[in-house]
Formats: sequence, C-alpha cells, structure tokens
Amino acid sequence: MIQDPQGRIIDYLRLAVTDRCNLRCQYCLPEGYKGFLPKSEILSYEELNRVLELFSAQGVSKLRITGGEPFVRRDLIFWLQEIARQKWFKRMHITTNGVLTLPHVETLERIGFEGVNLSVDSFDRENFKRITGRDELPRVMETLDALTQTRMKVRINAVVLTDHNLNDLHELVDFGTAKAVDVRFIEEMPFNGTGEVKAGVWDYRKILLHLSEAFDLIPERPEPNGTAMWYRIPGRPGRVGVIPAYSRTFCGTCNRLRIDPKGKVKTCLYGKDEIDLGRIIRQGASDNVLLASVQEAISRRHPNGKSAEREMLSDNKQHTSMASIGG
Ligand code: SF4
Repeated sequence: MIQDPQGRIIDYLRLAVTDRCNLRCQYCLPEGYKGFLPKSEILSYEELNRVLELFSAQGVSKLRITGGEPFVRRDLIFWLQEIARQKWFKRMHITTNGVLTLPHVETLERIGFEGVNLSVDSFDRENFKRITGRDELPRVMETLDALTQTRMKVRINAVVLTDHNLNDLHELVDFGTAKAVDVRFIEEMPFNGTGEVKAGVWDYRKILLHLSEAFDLIPERPEPNGTAMWYRIPGRPGRVGVIPAYSRTFCGTCNRLRIDPKGKVKTCLYGKDEIDLGRIIRQGASDNVLLASVQEAISRRHPNGKSAEREMLSDNKQHTSMASIGG
C-alpha cells in the first residue's frame, strides 16, 4: 500500500502514454507549441508494463490512461488489450478527445474498461474549431454516440473558457443529462504551455451560478476521493459536475499519482516532477530500487495543490502544458 505523510492512500494512477495530440486546444497545447518530448524518451510499452505491474503490486487499483491524446500513439489498442489481460487493475478508465476513438469503442468495452471521459468544450462546430484549432466535431459526436450505446460510464469534460464557450455550457448540459451522460465543467488551469495564469477565469461558484440560472440543480453526495461537485436535474438521467480544479478544494482526499510519458512521477498535478522512473528503469534498476524511489517521492508529498505549487514556483519552474502531464 502506498500512503503519504497525510495518511492519504494512493490507489489511483493516471498514466500519460504520449504528449502528442491531434488537437490544439488553446488552453492546453497552443498552435506552434514546441515542447514535445523526443520520441526516444517516451516509455515503450514494455517499460510501461513494468511501471504498471510495480504500482499494481502496491495496491493501486484504478488506472486512467491519458495523454496528450492516447489514440495518437501507435498500436495503443493492442497494448490496452494486453494490460487488460494482465488484470493488474480492478478499474480501468481512459480520457480521450474522441477524434480517433470510434473504431475502438467496442474493444474498450469488451476488454473491461469501466469508463471513458470525453473532452469536449463546445457542441457548436465553429466554436469547437476555434477552441481546438481543428474541424473535428463531427467525428467526436460519432464517438459520443457510440459510447452512449455501451455499458461504460461516459462523461463529458468541458473546460470553462470565459472567452470562448460560456454560451455553450447550457447546450452541453441539455445534451448530456438527457442521455445519461455526466457532464463535468472544469475550472481553467494554468497548464497552457505558457505557464501564465489567465485573468478572469471563472471559479466553481461562478460556473454554478451560471448553470443554476437555467437548470434546477439538486446537490448530490460527493464521490469518495472525487474532484467533482455533483448535481442532478429532476427527471434527467445524467448528472452535472463542477470541478474546482484551480480552486483545489478537494485535496484532502486526493488518492492520485501521475506519471508522464517519459516516466516522471508527479505526486501532485501542481507540483514539480519528483522522480524520473524512466531514467531509473533505463539505468537497469531493480524493482526494489524503483519502489524505494517512489516511496521517497511520496514521503515528500505536499498536503495540497497550493503548497505543491508554491514550492514548484519558488524553484523558478513554471507549469507545462497539460498534454505533457496527462491531466
Ligand atoms: S491539486 Fe494536487 S493534491 Fe490536490 S487533488 Fe490535485 S493532485 Fe491532489
């Protein structure tokens, strides 16, 4: 079992399998972004298997595959089938932008994926193109439609962009909640490849106010270790969630650890890279050495994202793109 100095048990691994993406969302991977890792530094599937087996053996039971966009990585679906066969994790989830996902929806369900988070910030084709830099909404909607035909838990993740999609939030709620799809609105975070914190970003209170102008939002019990504040609209199967991702009101129950495509471990999204498992693996280290370095990193874990960020910024570091962390 992995436990941090605050007593929080780490049983959820968010693994980024690539920092590449086929979209250029302004708040994450702006056009002209140059920070991509050399391909040789991205962990191979064999190296990823070693990492997964290590964490599974330490009681980590939930895995989320992230990116960049996971499906831009070649042969991903074959590797996902392989790790599903290994039964390392009780719960497997993936976050995708849906552009390349449609051909893989059935396989994800068949091999036991429990849920898919689909990142969509607008259902307006022109606005989607403005936000992502690509005219890909039709393919994303096909994927969403196919996902709603499965038994997998489907969630729409939308970042609230004060300068882009405020007029689209109600449509996202209307569409999702009518289809038993949970729609989650996320505060914008400074992981935009520039390290700058944008002014005027709406916090969860403002988002809720905006939504409750149009919908009768009935609060629901929070999920254990969850980040979202959940609401139901009477008569609708889908829920509405609001994630105070920048306000960071949920750190007390954080059970997450992140590993980037290079194998760098982040004990907090807002913190600095703690250790480079990829480098240690490539030095031929044993599992005991890997585990000792993970535990050493966990022993330095901050109580919350604000203190982790203070330390990171005081080291003259800046936030990188969300695509290089994996969200
Ligand atoms: S900000 Fe850091 S500590 Fe807080 S929930 Fe996120 S990862 Fe956990």
